Amino acid sequence: ERVPLIAGNWKMNLDHLQAIALVQKLSWSLKDVKHDYGTVEVAVFPPFTDLRSVQTLLAADRLALRLGAQDVSPNAPGAFTGDVAASFLSKLGADYVIVGHSERRQGHGEDDATVAAKARAAAAAGIAPLICVGETAEDRAASGAAAVPLAQLDVALSSLEAGAEFVVAYEPVWAIGSGEPASPEQAQEVIGELRARVRQSHGDDAAARTRLLYGGSVTSQNVAAFLRQPDIDGALVGGASLDADEFSRIVQFK
Ligand code: 13P
Repeated sequence: ERVPLIAGNWKMNLDHLQAIALVQKLSWSLKDVKHDYGTVEVAVFPPFTDLRSVQTLLAADRLALRLGAQDVSPNAPGAFTGDVAASFLSKLGADYVIVGHSERRQGHGEDDATVAAKARAAAAAGIAPLICVGETAEDRAASGAAAVPLAQLDVALSSLEAGAEFVVAYEPVWAIGSGEPASPEQAQEVIGELRARVRQSHGDDAAARTRLLYGGSVTSQNVAAFLRQPDIDGALVGGASLDADEFSRIVQFK
């Protein structure tokens, strides 16, 4: 069965000293929790400048948190000023990398082809891409909830080989940072269609194995209702992942 994944996307928050403080607090908040990562997996996604510090802490503390990055270059190491190669992230012990977040699609003009190339580069370096898809309010009004997320997922999946490990996050753009999450039923409806699409492109095993997350204004108050839906296997948490107490409540969603 799929192990739920609670992922904290810090976005462009916390310098490396603040990151150290948060991870230490998180380690304290979670210290009495019966850690059973057979039942839930927890990952944090700090900015690039924090990754090394966080990785060192996690290794020293034996905190069973997984580590991810927020972006990756589609290219191999070379003359690409400002970019970070997937192989560098894998050397740092990153398990995951976010690709296709709406803030990069909108703010950096990343299209589906770029997202697919990034997913391919991550997978080739042994890092599972966490592929974000989601519709804007305008998309939803024009073509319904699922059309844009499905089209975005199709392109990303076309770049991944049959056995590749990946995670999908459905993040309706209108729900991100708005305090207005999708309802669990709305999220389930789209995520159920996304899983069907994974089945079509990558087969039954991949559809049964792949974690599909919901993201957008997730808090400790609403997380459990999402996780109760049959196809929702976790949450991609933004703002609420920056507070150690709140994030540890989310992790203990049951
Ligand atoms: P919020 O949880 O702050 O709405 O952000 C969601 C998100 O974009 C996570 O990637």
